[in-house]
Amino acid sequence: MKAAPRDQIRLLDLQELDSTLDRLAHRRRTLPENAELAALQEQIAELRDKLVAARTEVGDLDREQTKAEQDVEQVRARADRDAKRLDSGMVTSAKDLASLQSEIASLQRRQSDLEEVVLEIMERREEAEGRVGTVESRQRELDAALAELNERKDKAEQEISGQSSLTSDARKGVAADIPADLLGLYEKLRDQFGGVGAAALTRGQCQGCRLALNTSDLNRIRAAAADDVVRCEECRRILVRTPESGL
Ligand SMILES: [Zn+2]
Repeated sequence: MKAAPRDQIRLLDLQELDSTLDRLAHRRRTLPENAELAALQEQIAELRDKLVAARTEVGDLDREQTKAEQDVEQVRARADRDAKRLDSGMVTSAKDLASLQSEIASLQRRQSDLEEVVLEIMERREEAEGRVGTVESRQRELDAALAELNERKDKAEQEISGQSSLTSDARKGVAADIPADLLGLYEKLRDQFGGVGAAALTRGQCQGCRLALNTSDLNRIRAAAADDVVRCEECRRILVRTPESGL
């Protein structure tokens, strides 16, 4: 392939812009904010589960408390009925009186035991309520951190987008200067060789694969016409001659 030396040099400008675009794309993909965001979202999901569990516990204890209070009420109602019978003077036999008094005493003990149960449930409910509060306040913290992180990520992405679009514009301008066949070869090699299709020959070294060319390769390049498009024997990339090539 033939191309004017000027166009070959232009290829190096294009390569530099393409490498910049690749670096920007890589930076966008590997923004530390992305990993932070994934970790934070995981934490938020965990917290959501914890909140559901804590709220369920409060609900369960509410029901348990209602049930225990109904038990207390039942026993109290029965003791009240017994007390009324006792006060009514309608029970007269000593044996019945004794049995009624003993039942009242037993109901009172039962009531006080059940009231203990209610108190204990209320304490547990208070603790569970406290856990809900703790999780909710942690959730607010994480929501704030998420908003801050998203803002930081957006800002970083916008900055990258800005640089990318400036670089893309510059690339369009440079690509327009390069003959189609040379550009086509460059694009093909760039695809094939990890984003680098053209490299400068600098002081006898290919800047694409970083290998020093041997004497016979250098002699071959020396002998080539200025408008010959030469390739690196090692990496097959387009080798661009410059005043620093050391030929
Ligand atoms: Zn090479």
